[in-house]
Amino acid sequence: MNNKKNAGEYFGSLVFNESTMRDYIPGTSLKIWQECVKTHSVLPEKIAADIADGMKRWALEQGATHYTHWFQPLTGETAEKHEGFLIPSGRDGFRMEFSSKELIQGEPDASSFPSGGLRSTFEARGYSAWDPTSYAFIKDKVLCIPTVFCSYSGEVLDKKTPLLRSGEALNRQAVRVLRLLGDNETESVTTNVGAEQEYFLLRKEQFMQREDLRLCGRTLFGADAPKKQELDDHYYGQIKPEVTAFMQDLNDELWKLGICAKTEHNEVAPAQYEMAPFFTTANLANDQNQLTMEIMKRVAEKHDLVCLLSEKPFAGINGSGKHVNWSVSTDKGENLFSPGKTPAENTRFLLFLAAFLKGVDEYYELLRSAAAYAGNDNRLGGQEAPPAIISVFIGSELEKVVDSIIHEKAYDGGEDASLAIGRDVLLHIGRDNTDRNRTSPLAFTGNKFEFRMVGSSQSIASPVAYLNTIMAQELKEVADELETADDPKEALMGLIRRMLSEHRRIVFNGNGYDEAWVEEAARRGLKNLKNTAQTVPEYASEKNIRLLTENGIYSRKEIESRNEIRVEKYCSVITIEARTLDQMIRRGIFGAVNAYLASLTQNFYYEKQLYEEVGQLGNDLYAAVGRLEKYLGELEGAGAAERLAICSDRLTAAMKDCRAVVDKLETLIDSRFWPYPTYTELLFAI
Ligand code: ADP
Ligand code: MG
Repeated sequence: MNNKKNAGEYFGSLVFNESTMRDYIPGTSLKIWQECVKTHSVLPEKIAADIADGMKRWALEQGATHYTHWFQPLTGETAEKHEGFLIPSGRDGFRMEFSSKELIQGEPDASSFPSGGLRSTFEARGYSAWDPTSYAFIKDKVLCIPTVFCSYSGEVLDKKTPLLRSGEALNRQAVRVLRLLGDNETESVTTNVGAEQEYFLLRKEQFMQREDLRLCGRTLFGADAPKKQELDDHYYGQIKPEVTAFMQDLNDELWKLGICAKTEHNEVAPAQYEMAPFFTTANLANDQNQLTMEIMKRVAEKHDLVCLLSEKPFAGINGSGKHVNWSVSTDKGENLFSPGKTPAENTRFLLFLAAFLKGVDEYYELLRSAAAYAGNDNRLGGQEAPPAIISVFIGSELEKVVDSIIHEKAYDGGEDASLAIGRDVLLHIGRDNTDRNRTSPLAFTGNKFEFRMVGSSQSIASPVAYLNTIMAQELKEVADELETADDPKEALMGLIRRMLSEHRRIVFNGNGYDEAWVEEAARRGLKNLKNTAQTVPEYASEKNIRLLTENGIYSRKEIESRNEIRVEKYCSVITIEARTLDQMIRRGIFGAVNAYLASLTQNFYYEKQLYEEVGQLGNDLYAAVGRLEKYLGELEGAGAAERLAICSDRLTAAMKDCRAVVDKLETLIDSRFWPYPTYTELLFAI
């Protein structure tokens, strides 16, 4: 630990970032690298050799012994395979080797990564290629080189490649639009992302006593603790010393890796916390979030705790999300979602806002799909998570502006707010105070959008890639239209008005938890895609395939394979959960019921009553677990569509039935007989 040092002295010490590169790479080579990164062009071999050499010297000085191509397969996790620097040399000697070839390309045997039929096992080789736009870093004495991962025939097998491609698509189209707006300065446009990470901390000792936590990362049953989160005493509450120690250690580790962990606090549910880093460019933010999740788990272990990242570890209290803050800015540092201070900036803002709203309205099924998987199904649509219906919160002030544009009326939103519909627009939009509305899945918060539907354990790569792609598509349409207009400036206001009018329905500032919203959304024609299964046909729709292929993100085959992987993964998760629950009931709960019943002498009236009640619940459970096993049996030999139906309807319902009985039993049976830690024990232990 570096507690005695000032954080500034070790921040980024394990990262081969630009300032470190300056010390290890010849100046001319560094310049060429910077230029290549900026213009997305290919790095000359000679420069790569200089970088490899510098990287090796630096890594060895830091005590690294191995290197790895660090990539992000479709599991949503990260993968690594270590290679030693050491090779024999001469009779008894050795040398440390690492060349540009090893830096640039690797060949992990990748037969066991999901590919959705894109690559058969007999052509197992995929290759990983260095992503020079992210930084190499050291983890456990291993030099980790961020890479993309493809099959030999060039199909994308990872989460990073589409993210990079979407960034390029957005850059291309945004610069086009800016040129049409008269901006000749901006050379490139990038997305910035800050991913707030929620998590739970449990005591390791208790975690180990529950197979559901160990195998599924969440509890499959558990009666409500007498106290939940109703006192609001945890949220932003004083942080307990044990948790503070964890957070300090976590910050140290993250800072060493150059991750600017900034905010930390208690979250709403008991035992729930949040860490938010300072935002950075999308690609780096994605790498950093992957690392953050890994480091959180490791640091927790060191403290005899377990960090749970799953979306809904406990029923009845808040689940965990990952609020993805997303914005678009120019290389001159201008945020394109910032309302701005001049009429020109305002117009640009309104255009980008209108394009975003139109994009979300047209492709909300894709965004919904990006956050749809088994774990998040337990969270979305609950009373405390964003609803499963996508809408955009823009705040009341901005809503007034939007409506005044649509209805061609003057805007009188505030003292110095004025809006003249016509050639120039001037408005002052302050940060809306109502952005505290936490019920929206996608909220405008002053100069960025916050995508709150994303689940706590998932990779942010796809959600961000789809936001980028949708925006790229809309800006492309804007540019196409303005390029052919006689008077682009005149056409612009009309275009903004049309986009806003046609897509007004996606704006919703009200309470997303309200039942009335479900009905209202249906009236507006917005689909309520309640679970993963319902997103499966939507994800690979012709509309989305067109969007993703035309913007160069995926081929049709890649989209379809990704959907297959989504279904497979969903079914695997549900099946594992069902099997785990089955085992816990058969081997734990029935034993507890029997022992408890045997302990009752039945000499007293109350004992007789309890005997009856618990005995009856035992019978109910026996029937419910029988159904669970029957559906598990039906999975054998079923095709993909049938498996999806079994998992998403029958198995899920059977698990719910079992749970209801088990939870009742838990409240009746003498605690000495109950084999698993309860919610009170799990949630109020620290
Ligand atoms: P909260 O949502 O808790 O009120 P903020 O909205 O201020 O907190 O910030 C949350 C996250 O948003 C942080 O990770 C922060 O770095 C990030 N963020 C702030 N500004 C931007 C921006 N322009 N683009 C992307 N992310 C941003
Ligand atoms: Mg926020």
